[in-house]
Amino acid sequence: MSVSLNVARSGERLAQLLVQDGIKDERVLAAIARVPRHAFVQPALTHKAYENTALPIGKGQTISQPAIVARMTEIILAAQIPVKNVLEIGTGCGYQTAVLAQLVDRVYSVERIASLQFQARRLLRQLDLHNINLKHGDGWKGWSSKAPFDAILVTAAAATLPEKLMHQLVDGGVMVVPVGTTEQVLKIVIRNGDDFSISDIANVKFVPLVAGEIE
Ligand code: SAH
Repeated sequence: MSVSLNVARSGERLAQLLVQDGIKDERVLAAIARVPRHAFVQPALTHKAYENTALPIGKGQTISQPAIVARMTEIILAAQIPVKNVLEIGTGCGYQTAVLAQLVDRVYSVERIASLQFQARRLLRQLDLHNINLKHGDGWKGWSSKAPFDAILVTAAAATLPEKLMHQLVDGGVMVVPVGTTEQVLKIVIRNGDDFSISDIANVKFVPLVAGEIE
């Protein structure tokens, strides 16, 4: 009882930090407040779980910084179309997946490292989140059998714009994607028929979007 109360307060505090960081969408702030981020980090880092920082999750990967999770989520919810299904590339520990699952009907997420995907699957089930489909595979290819998606959120930095993913958007759909290698820019891609409008949001730092899946 006291543990879950503390978690709720920690989530609330984290949401407050994000307000100071410029996050305005109440739906996103409520989702951040609700998701128990400590469950997604390694036990030794539990005390840092509600800080606004990225943390290591093993296999050379990270759990994204809450501010960037919130910002990317806010961007896709601001699309001109209702956002019901979302494709995430780079499940990692599943934190962004869990935040999205609070806000849209269905989340599809692809991860290239099998062991991370396995852990994320187990945790998301434990948290009773059932509107999620996970796949082990190469995110550069997207998830063509489930396409098109209202929104696509790429949580690793693509060296170049991932064209295959752009074509898995519905008309009017929006993709948010970090692009670059040493210097990375968060970009918004909006599909208008066969055209795509692209705008830059901010400089960011993500782990690279690598080609090919591994065990
Ligand atoms: N969404 C996560 C962020 C994880 S870090 C969160 O909420 O914290 C990015 C993840 O992308 C890593 O787990 C990495 O293994 C994965 N990744 C990198 N290249 C990939 C690719 N080509 N396909 C799928 N996943 C990829």
